[in-house]
Amino acid sequence: MSGSHAAKPGKAQPAAPSKGKPFDAVMGTYARQDIVFARGEGSWLYTTSGDKYLDFGSGVAVNALGHAHPRLIAALTAQANKLWHTSNLYRVEGQEVLAERLTELTFADRVFFCNSGAEACEGAIKIARRYQYVSGHPERWRIITFRGAFHGRTLTTLAAGGNEKYLEGFGPEADGFDHVAFGDHEALEKAIGPETAAIMIEPIQGEGGVRQVPPQCLVGLRELCDKHGLLLVLDEVQTGVGRTGKLFAHEWAGITPDVMAVAKGLGGGFPVGAILATAEAAKGMTAGTHGSTFGGNPLAMSVAGAVLDVVTESGFLDDVRTRTLRLKQGLASLKDQFPDIVEEVRGEGLLCGLKMKARVQPADVVKAANAEKLLLVGAGDNTVRILPPLNVTDADLSEGVERLSRALSRVSKTLS
Ligand SMILES: *Cc1c(COP(=O)(O)O)cnc(C)c1O
Repeated sequence: MSGSHAAKPGKAQPAAPSKGKPFDAVMGTYARQDIVFARGEGSWLYTTSGDKYLDFGSGVAVNALGHAHPRLIAALTAQANKLWHTSNLYRVEGQEVLAERLTELTFADRVFFCNSGAEACEGAIKIARRYQYVSGHPERWRIITFRGAFHGRTLTTLAAGGNEKYLEGFGPEADGFDHVAFGDHEALEKAIGPETAAIMIEPIQGEGGVRQVPPQCLVGLRELCDKHGLLLVLDEVQTGVGRTGKLFAHEWAGITPDVMAVAKGLGGGFPVGAILATAEAAKGMTAGTHGSTFGGNPLAMSVAGAVLDVVTESGFLDDVRTRTLRLKQGLASLKDQFPDIVEEVRGEGLLCGLKMKARVQPADVVKAANAEKLLLVGAGDNTVRILPPLNVTDADLSEGVERLSRALSRVSKTLS
C-alpha cells in the first residue's frame, strides 16, 4: 500500500470512477457535466474516453492562451526546477518584477498578489475601507454594488454581489453593501451617503449575463466618485488581461479606477489573483494590514509573467480585436438564422454572450453545444457565454460558430 493511511474499516477500496458514477468523496457543490478531460492543446480538449471538444469556455475565461501553451509550460517548468514557495516572510523577486510591469502597464502604483478572484475582490474591499479610515473617515465603510454582480464566494464578496440564492443558509448577510439596480443612475446617486466609501463594479457583468456598463456610464461613475470622495473599485477578474481586446476593459472608457481586482486570465490556468491600486488608494495598506500565505508564490509569478509577455506583445491585442469582429459577425448571423431563440448578441472582445429568448434555457444550449463537441458557459440573465482563448485561430473560430449553429438547430427542433 502506498502511504501510511489505513483504509477506514468496512470501506472498500475505491475503484476507478466509471462514467456516470463519479466518486461521492468530492463535495457535491457543483452541478458538473459528466465529462472528464485528460489533456488539452490550444483551443481543444481531449477526454479520457477519446472525444475531442472545442473549448469556447476557456475554463470560465481562465485559459487566456488556450491549453498547454509552450511559453507557459516553459516558464512553469523552469521555475519548478528552481523554487516553489518561500512565504511572504521574505522578498519574492517574481512579485517585484511582475508588480513593476503591471504598474507600468496600468493606472496602478501598487500591487498585492493573491490566489483567486474572490480574494482579489475581498482585498479590494479592505483597501477601500482602509483608505477612508486612514483619510480621517472611519465612518465611511459602506460600498455600493450592483444587482446581478458577481464578486466571488467568500461571505463578504457574496454580500457584495447580493445574490439571494448564494446567500441562503449562510447566516446573516455581511453588512456594508448597498445594492443598486444595474443602470439605475438615480438610485445610484441616492444610495451615496455619509457612510459610503466606494463604488464597486464589473465593467461587464460576466456571471450576470455579459451585461456591459456603457463606457459613458463608467465615465459618469468616475466623476461621481471624484465628486463625493469615493474610491472607484473595478472588478476586472473576468474582463481583464486582454479578454475584451484591451489589456483591461476600463481602457475602452478612457477612465482609470482607484482599485482593481484581477484574477482568471492572469495565470492562464495557474491560480493567481492581484489587486492593483494607486499609491493614494493603497496608502493605508501598511505592514500587517493584509496578507496571504500562498499569494504571489514564485510559480504563480513566473506563469503570470509569461502570460503578460504574450498578451502585451505588439499586435496581440489588435489580433484579439480582429478575432472579435469575426466572432461577432458569426454570432450576428446566428441571431438572424435563429430569430425565435436568440434575443441578442452581447459583449466586448472575446467575452461574448448570446441572450436567449425567454422560452430557451441557457443550460439547454450548453447541453446542445456539448452534443456538438463545443464547450460554452452559462450565465445569468438567460445568457450563454462564448469565451474562446484569446489566441484562438481563425479556423477554430469558424469551426466554433458552425458547431454553435448546429447546437442552436438542435435546440430549435426541441421547441417546435
Ligand atoms: C470569477 C469571478 C470572481 C470570483 O473569482 P474566483 O477565482 O472564483 O474566486 C469575482 N469576480 C468576477 C467578476 C468573476 O468573474
